[in-house]
Amino acid sequence: MPEKKMNKHSGRCICGRVKFTVDIDEIPRVYNCHCLDCRKAFGGMITIIDLRDGALKIEKQNLGIFTQLGGSGNEIKNYFCKTCTAPIFRYVSLWKRNYLFAGLLDNIDFIKNAKNIFYKDSHFPFMKIEEEELTI
Ligand SMILES: [Zn+2]
Ligand SMILES: [Zn+2]
Repeated sequence: MPEKKMNKHSGRCICGRVKFTVDIDEIPRVYNCHCLDCRKAFGGMITIIDLRDGALKIEKQNLGIFTQLGGSGNEIKNYFCKTCTAPIFRYVSLWKRNYLFAGLLDNIDFIKNAKNIFYKDSHFPFMKIEEEELTI
């Protein structure tokens, strides 16, 4: 497989106790998750970036973990800042993948597109979503 072009990015939470660097594909895979769990946890849709293995460099001592069960019954671990509670990233055991909460990045200009997921029964009517449902 050809080597993907990656760029290094930095990010931090609101209070700054959690800081990280992350390698992200030049054209990242980005999802807007509208599922009921995200809505309840974060108050609405969340935007996440699918990360490659080992892409995220972060110190874990300031992170809290909330574990939930996904629709498949597999664990989903949500990592957040223990101080300001900002969500940082999520580990989905079904896919063995980390997903970064995109809003934590210092620079978001490179995120040009995002696919909407799990919106059928759960998105706000003021959001017009015309694409086909896609599940990851
Ligand atoms: Zn914080
Ligand atoms: Zn969700």
